[in-house]
Amino acid sequence: MSKILLITPPFLQFNNPYPAMPYIKGYLTKRGYDADHLDLNIDTARNIYSSKFLERIFDLAHSRKLLEPFPRFYIEKKRYIHTIDSVINFLSGRNQSLAHRIVSRDFLPEGPRFSKVNESEEFSLFDTADRAKYFATLYLEDISDAYRSLIDPGFGIVRYRESLGISASFFSEIEDKLSGKYTEIENEMLDILKIKVEELKPEVVIFTVPFPGNLFLALRCADYIKKNYPEINIIAGGGYVNTELREISSREFFNYVDYLVFDDGEKPIEHLLKYIRGNEPEDKLFNTVFLKDGEICRSPFIESAVTDEIYAPDYSHIDTLKYISMFDTANPMVRLWNDGYWNKLTLAHGCYWAGCSFCDTKIDYICNYRSFSVESIIEKMKRAISETGETGFHFTDEAAPPALLKKLAIAILQEGITCTWWTNVRFEESFTPDLAKLLAMSGCIAVAGGIEAAAPRILKLINKGVSLENISRSCHNFSSAGILVHGYLMYGYPTQNEKETVQALEIVRQLFKNRCIDSAYWHRFSLTCHSAVYDDPEKYEITIDEWKGDFAKNDMQYRNKIKTDHSKFSGPLKRGLESYMAGLEMDLPVEKWFQRNSPKSGVDSDLIESFINTEAAERGNSIFISALPQIFKEKGGGYISFRVFGNEYTIEVKESDYNGVINFYKKYGLYEKSSKERILADLSSAVGMTVKEMKVTELYMFLREFSIMVI
Ligand code: SF4
Repeated sequence: MSKILLITPPFLQFNNPYPAMPYIKGYLTKRGYDADHLDLNIDTARNIYSSKFLERIFDLAHSRKLLEPFPRFYIEKKRYIHTIDSVINFLSGRNQSLAHRIVSRDFLPEGPRFSKVNESEEFSLFDTADRAKYFATLYLEDISDAYRSLIDPGFGIVRYRESLGISASFFSEIEDKLSGKYTEIENEMLDILKIKVEELKPEVVIFTVPFPGNLFLALRCADYIKKNYPEINIIAGGGYVNTELREISSREFFNYVDYLVFDDGEKPIEHLLKYIRGNEPEDKLFNTVFLKDGEICRSPFIESAVTDEIYAPDYSHIDTLKYISMFDTANPMVRLWNDGYWNKLTLAHGCYWAGCSFCDTKIDYICNYRSFSVESIIEKMKRAISETGETGFHFTDEAAPPALLKKLAIAILQEGITCTWWTNVRFEESFTPDLAKLLAMSGCIAVAGGIEAAAPRILKLINKGVSLENISRSCHNFSSAGILVHGYLMYGYPTQNEKETVQALEIVRQLFKNRCIDSAYWHRFSLTCHSAVYDDPEKYEITIDEWKGDFAKNDMQYRNKIKTDHSKFSGPLKRGLESYMAGLEMDLPVEKWFQRNSPKSGVDSDLIESFINTEAAERGNSIFISALPQIFKEKGGGYISFRVFGNEYTIEVKESDYNGVINFYKKYGLYEKSSKERILADLSSAVGMTVKEMKVTELYMFLREFSIMVI
């Protein structure tokens, strides 16, 4: 049977494969299709960061006299060429002894990016391996800057001609650029593509286009295939297509791509493949847009089918050692995005809240919520571990539901899966101290969630569904459990005034000071046409400019009726945040970051502290699990040692009590709150001492430690 080639085009993060194509591959393979995945992103990255490519670029740039403005780069030519292959191996997890050479500062040539090294105070806290990774990342950034200046102005690590993808309302803007000559980087990419297409001779090629930064190269590849292999059908889908191209009316676009599929691609692609092979009529197509007889045809748009079976990625073909970890930040949470190999999985489809007024709540990936069963998630985790040999997971949900996370954590502990994971959440009150500790025990190391404009009035206007109190407590609970917390912040929300912006930074200062969050990032509000704000501009006191175009429609131009110049806040907010993330200037008045005539924040200086020190914040949770103890009988008795939150206890146990302990464990595997008193009574009689009321997490800890420390 003919092959299907799935392609992830450059450029995205280099530390693991983008999951879209492994998901499609998993589904198509199960349905009997012969699907192969080419991760052109990482393959191109490895080729352009190689001694062979660098040598060619140096020679080329020298012959064209392009290197004259970069004398230092040229002088270091030999060192760059001699070091690049071993550095890439090092960043891919091999060749770790090289760290010692890299930190010597004599091994790598140091370009302009290294100038920031000495400014970083946190840098001194890095160990040798991290320092080496940091230097190696700066070195790659120097090379990338040189590529951008010398051979390809559109090139950037993890993105390519991104601004073009964001701003192109008319396809002609992109087509203009596609008619230009191939750059050296594009040539390198197309060489890899050519080899794969020649080898596979696919009947259909499918591209994922998740972001504006990989649109252009997806089209470059599609154009190349159309010109050289016109018999191949080309399909494209992914996040960019879903959010930007829903109203496409450019016929010219379909000279490059035959079919666009929207929302979850698995099912629409399956029907499209049958249609292409003549096994199904056109009226079976859905969520598909294509050109027929010169007219754009739109098949019916329906909700994505969401089942455990459909969402099962196949990572069996992935060579994890190809992937390149990088980091250039001391912030342990921020670095997770680019550093380390993470198996990507989703726990639920869509967002269980789906109510925030700025979010794409009208699109399937947000509004179509279904959670997967814990059993299927555990199965997928086990499968991913066996396929990649990696136990790190990034659960890529928009907002992982607390109830599902609780069940999953218990299942991970019961199954004895050793893993490390992180995800997005909504900072809501169900993330109690106990649940946060339970999640940490199951391997959770970090969470990220929306704090947005950090102001009560705006949170209500957003319809965030959580208050500042909820956010503070939830973040504090995670942080107290040893989980890193990252906040997504927003400024410039419609109707937000200057005072509220100053207040927002004050709230952020207090969140850092009270150890609620470890890192955060300010985003400027942008209006998407898939949001509730777009549907009700009156309510948000904005007027929206009319959209004109035939291609990308997502971010809309608008004007605030209340005149506030939000652009003047970006500098102060950024500087203040950077300082707090570094633990600096935490006690200075927040107004210092803003212009002198800015309003005072007026926020109580102990507001966040008051939220996290209330009785409600101390509330316990309702679940714990136990396991059968390993008991070694000794004649006449023995001892049981256990720890509860760091305190060591030793209990003498008479021989008769052993049976009590065993019965106790056999009787209960999983407890709900209703049986807590009974548990305490049983436990007291089993271990021969009074076990006082304790929080369920303590009880969980007690039993967990107890079960492995019986002597
Ligand atoms: S912003 Fe987050 S929590 Fe709000 S609707 Fe979107 S995904 Fe859900």
